[in-house]
Amino acid sequence: MHSDLIGKIEKARRYAQEPERIALDEITVRFHGGNNEHMVRLEGGHWKCDCEVFHLRHVCAHVMTMQKVLEPMLSPEAREPGPVIIHSELISMIDKSRRYAHELERIEIDSLHARFRGSNNDHTLTLVESRWVCDCTTFRTWNTCAHVMALQRILAPMLPAAAREPGSIPTDERLVSALN
Ligand SMILES: [Zn+2]
Ligand SMILES: [Zn+2]
Repeated sequence: MHSDLIGKIEKARRYAQEPERIALDEITVRFHGGNNEHMVRLEGGHWKCDCEVFHLRHVCAHVMTMQKVLEPMLSPEAREPGPVIIHSELISMIDKSRRYAHELERIEIDSLHARFRGSNNDHTLTLVESRWVCDCTTFRTWNTCAHVMALQRILAPMLPAAAREPGSIPTDERLVSALN
């Protein structure tokens, strides 16, 4: 049984190198900007942020950062840049989002909904209130699976501590070393 689980962990490691398997349909994050905290949300292919710049321009450094960080998992629609705006403003937003993309501790993922193209089947994953759910059979047994583990790896710096937990897999030495 454990060897089966180790196989899953190895699979998760491989999957984490292939983020294009994941299609992120919805995500909500809290973004700690320079002064304030902002809510950034992707839904139906469209981004929203509750900051003032977004309100005025329909684009902001927070959304740009999320587009940069999550790019391989986004639909073409969700990758689109915002409307054309004043050049100097755009430059400053790009600069800021570049810096933010290296400061992932600013971002905390609240919830997400994703589809995962596995080697055999497609699966649906959600994260709500720091709890993962995947519709695959492995998840039912272990409260985790290769899909959840791969997303945990990819998104690690942006996940709240409770969402980084390894599920209910037995913690013997071989498993622990496979997880690290
Ligand atoms: Zn914003
Ligand atoms: Zn799964």
